[in-house]
Amino acid sequence: MVAKTSIADYLLQRIIGSSSHNFKYHLKECLMHLPEEDLRAIAYERNVHVLAASTNAVVTLDPVLYDPGKGDLVLVVFTTDFDKCPAHEIVYMIAHEFAHVFLDHFRRARWHGHESEIEADHQVVAWGFERQLRQCPSNYLGWKE
Ligand SMILES: [Zn+2]
Repeated sequence: MVAKTSIADYLLQRIIGSSSHNFKYHLKECLMHLPEEDLRAIAYERNVHVLAASTNAVVTLDPVLYDPGKGDLVLVVFTTDFDKCPAHEIVYMIAHEFAHVFLDHFRRARWHGHESEIEADHQVVAWGFERQLRQCPSNYLGWKE
């Protein structure tokens, strides 16, 4: 548990720019649910950063574009105003985007459009977020409550 907390905190430090307290809370909650091995892979084997912008923003990415051993920048971008979203939607959105990161969908050769969206949602379910997925009618599996 201590290990997972420190990995999640490491990822919280990789938020670019400012984001709401609400978003940070849900991000940590969501990350803490992932198996430690998967969380480790996301945090330490990919050069992942998070940008949660509900307002227009200017950011500079120079310092994080390349991380030796982890490769090119993978930027997870959320444009939703999390303060206006129900918790299940926030959790689903975060889990779904991190599933893409975990499954390496950001690599051109690994991206297969709708098929990858479905694969990401199956990962969301595997991580234990089936309830939240079913509560979001926009999920790619077409599963309902
Ligand atoms: Zn997706």
